[in-house]
Amino acid sequence: MPLTTRLRTAVTDSLAEAVADYQQFHRTPELSMAETQTAAAIAEFLTGLGLAPQTFGGTGVVAVIENGDGPVVAYRADTDGLPIAEDTGLDYASHAEGTLPDGTTTPVMHGCGHDTHITVGLYLARFLTEHREAWAGTVVLLFQPGEETAAGAQAMLDDGLWETVVNPEVVYGQHVWPGRAGDVYVSSGTAMAMSDSLRVTVRGKQAHGSQPENAIDPIVLGAFMITRLQSIVSREISGRDTAVVTVGTFHGGLKENIIPETAVFTLNIRTFDEDVRAVVLDRVHRIVRAEAEASGAPEPLIEPMHSFPRCVNDPDRTAAFVSAAGAELGEDHVHVVPAVTGSEDFGAFGDALGVPYVYWFFGGYSPAVLDGDEPPAGNHSPHFAPDDVPTTLETGLRAALTAVLSDLGKAEG
Ligand code: ZN
Ligand code: ZN
Repeated sequence: MPLTTRLRTAVTDSLAEAVADYQQFHRTPELSMAETQTAAAIAEFLTGLGLAPQTFGGTGVVAVIENGDGPVVAYRADTDGLPIAEDTGLDYASHAEGTLPDGTTTPVMHGCGHDTHITVGLYLARFLTEHREAWAGTVVLLFQPGEETAAGAQAMLDDGLWETVVNPEVVYGQHVWPGRAGDVYVSSGTAMAMSDSLRVTVRGKQAHGSQPENAIDPIVLGAFMITRLQSIVSREISGRDTAVVTVGTFHGGLKENIIPETAVFTLNIRTFDEDVRAVVLDRVHRIVRAEAEASGAPEPLIEPMHSFPRCVNDPDRTAAFVSAAGAELGEDHVHVVPAVTGSEDFGAFGDALGVPYVYWFFGGYSPAVLDGDEPPAGNHSPHFAPDDVPTTLETGLRAALTAVLSDLGKAEG
């Protein structure tokens, strides 16, 4: 069912205000699980709507909007920024800094577009509170911190979220990405990959750079490990299965003529299937240990960093969303796409209750940018930011309202 005329007009009329709020969130990003000012701003907005926001998991904010008898639906928006120095050149670009868990200071940017998610979540709350005539039931709004480190959803659940707040029968969420502003993109079934990040400390034996015979060189050993890890996907995984193994950092040594004691690299694994995931993790451990042994080195330290669960969209609910979004945005603007290798902890909210969920993407770029010579910047790029903010926010809002009202909406009377 498309939105009522009154609601659609309300969305259009609110866009200038929503863009201003978005720009303010864009200017003031905070790192994962340190979103204190962001959480305060979200709570202030919700309180201004007459809601009573609650805190879960430190910087998670939850508001329940009750509106008579009807189903209970949850909608989730994530709120954290990334350790990236913004390079968009926008006049509302971020100059914020944050402190990483290891104590280092870093520039912070909303480089994944979670500022659009916050804004859409807040204006969804506003429309639901100001247009109670359009729906009946209960909406649980989840503003989740720490998505980028896979810590936030679990922190809210561990803090008693579903023991405290009314339980939904379905959970919705969405993410901006480098698609066309105005369009949404959704996968039925597996929507996003599982993700596992590991830190490997390669232990060697320190010596003067002129005396390799007295050393076990952790840089050479780490290089062998990293090279051999490339063979997991190409030589140990079936052509029918999908996996990605990326080594994203490699640090060792301070001077060219000193063989260091240790070197450290971090890697990330993406898989869609629990069995494939288990195989890849096993092969990583086997290769890292065996290469160390081949070099006569001490056993390396392999530490898990973070792990994202699967995100599996319920096929029936996804079909209902595709049909409702097609009626609202136009069928040409709703794309059913294959699963992506990105990862999300959104699924944890539904999985914790055993209820279905649907997670989709909405576009953030104008046709001019998408059809240009250079591919547009993707999420996590220092250049990532929607260029047509009003259309981007409008798309997110209409998609969110459509999903929620597909369960709770009343015909215009
Ligand atoms: Zn994100
Ligand atoms: Zn991200």
